[in-house]
Amino acid sequence: MYPELAGKTAIVTGGSKGIGKGIAERFGKEKMNVVVDYLTDAEGAEETAQAIQKQGGKAVTVQADVSTETGIKSLIQTALDHFGSVDVLVNNAGFSEPAPSDELALETWQRVLDVNLTGAFIASREALSWMKANKVKGSILNISSVHQVIPKVENVHYGVTKGGLKMLTETLALEYAEQGIRINSIAPGTITTPGNPTQEQDAEEKEKTLQKIPMKKIGKPENIAAAAAWLVSGEAAYVTGTTLFVDGGMTLYPSQLF
Ligand code: NAP
Repeated sequence: MYPELAGKTAIVTGGSKGIGKGIAERFGKEKMNVVVDYLTDAEGAEETAQAIQKQGGKAVTVQADVSTETGIKSLIQTALDHFGSVDVLVNNAGFSEPAPSDELALETWQRVLDVNLTGAFIASREALSWMKANKVKGSILNISSVHQVIPKVENVHYGVTKGGLKMLTETLALEYAEQGIRINSIAPGTITTPGNPTQEQDAEEKEKTLQKIPMKKIGKPENIAAAAAWLVSGEAAYVTGTTLFVDGGMTLYPSQLF
């Protein structure tokens, strides 16, 4: 636990399920104020908000598409209206729609880029603008993937967004370091979520998944949430521009496994 996080305000995009829900709930345990963003799953977002409140944090849910400027502005405005600050932004919302590259529709390519990468840029720009104007030494956390360094077949669009997040993280970290605003990434390995339902894999498929993980264990949203809490806390005060791989060692294996 990081007592200095209590009362700080975080926006978590894609907080209705999976990794975003895990991070938002952990922030609740830290007694933070959380703006829980969702796209379609109002019920999931409400569940997240209730879990946060049960742990002693404060929460509000907002329906906002991160790929739009209006969506992002509504997230920032909600944080300011309800809690008066934006101290932490977690760019978590993201997805893939795998397809062979020679069949990948431009529409799909564009949508994955818009949500996973452009969304993180717009949200970072708006949060940085507010933090700078208000002299808040905040923190931004991008949820990337091991696929920012491991190429994955039929996921060229997804990999490009995660590689892009690495450069977004590093460039913004450099640009805002002097103002005390820290920007980092977490690169998860295989984490069981509604978007990656490994519990539904048959025995053969599960074995294939485990073969890619040196620790022979599939991760949980709580594993990512623990790293997220540390990275936005004062304990990581001298950490910026880095990617923390939380992957059971997956990136130690060669990419031909993928
Ligand atoms: P998930 O279970 O599919 O959840 C995705 C979340 O993103 C949902 O809350 C969804 O909202 C939200 N979302 C999607 N598009 C959005 C948009 N345009 N605007 C706002 N919210 C949007 O995914 P996950 O597995 O937790 O993944 C979360 C992040 O971790 C992603 O960036 C993913 O690339 C990354 N990641 C995951 C894994 C893994 O193994 N799970 C591994 C590496 C990286 P609604 O449900 O409300 O529509």
